[in-house]
Amino acid sequence: FLSGKRALITGSTSGIGLAIARAFAAEGAEVVLNGFGDADEIAKLCDELGASHVGADLLTAEGCEELMEKAGPVDILVNNAGMQHVSPVDEFPVDKWNAIIALNLTAAFHTSRLAVPHMKQKGWGRIINTASAHSKTASPFKSAYNASKHGIDGFTKTIALELAQTGVTANCISPGYVWTPLIEGQIPDTMKARGLSRDEVINDVLLAKQPTKKFVQPSEIGALAVFLCREEAGNVTGANWSIDGGWTAE
Ligand code: NAD
Repeated sequence: FLSGKRALITGSTSGIGLAIARAFAAEGAEVVLNGFGDADEIAKLCDELGASHVGADLLTAEGCEELMEKAGPVDILVNNAGMQHVSPVDEFPVDKWNAIIALNLTAAFHTSRLAVPHMKQKGWGRIINTASAHSKTASPFKSAYNASKHGIDGFTKTIALELAQTGVTANCISPGYVWTPLIEGQIPDTMKARGLSRDEVINDVLLAKQPTKKFVQPSEIGALAVFLCREEAGNVTGANWSIDGGWTAE
């Protein structure tokens, strides 16, 4: 049902973004991938999904502008690229703070401001932001990430209100722990910050948060993103959808 629609998913060479890209491609969307990685693997992904790829770095406004220019007008925008750093606040590297806010929050402002004119003109659009359970609640040692994710929730609600009468919706999807390279990458720092072993981090820190005791699957997030693009979801806007195994219900 997405044929004729162009969908740009930031940070879609890996993890959750790639799963959303696959789900959109399966529904017939013309997919534009973004993100870093091995050139041959990205070329293979493009073949598999009939997609194009723009490798712009979204840490800067110029990078976001380059992405939007090369992607062309998009009907569906998924702001998904994100990064994490785990450290106590008094040791938190300033450059990491700035990068996390730039990528997880500010990039979504730039891509959205550049995508909205076309969506308004068409009278249809979908903006979906990958937030996190950490947009609703906090865990220690993730000050920049939690601030960025609470921020994207506020940004999404604001543009949902601004666009409410235009046919364009804006929503967040808030996963709990999903097994992706982003999660694997934070295990060593969490071991260090909390003085725990790898298994203790997985079972006593990560899965301890999720009443289901299971990691969320990237494909489940793809299915939710597809639902938000349906006509029947036209009145779903300004929402922040948890998909976290019950974490934020506690
Ligand atoms: P991932 O590390 O697997 O993928 C991140 C993607 O972003 C990759 O494609 C990477 O190349 C791209 N990227 C990184 N820096 C970039 C930059 N400067 N410019 C452009 N692209 C860049 O991560 P993931 O786990 O799939 O995370 C995707 C999103 O989901 C993030 O916003 C993350 O905060 C959020 N999230 C993840 C989890 C989880 O448990 N994995 C939970 C909640 C929210």
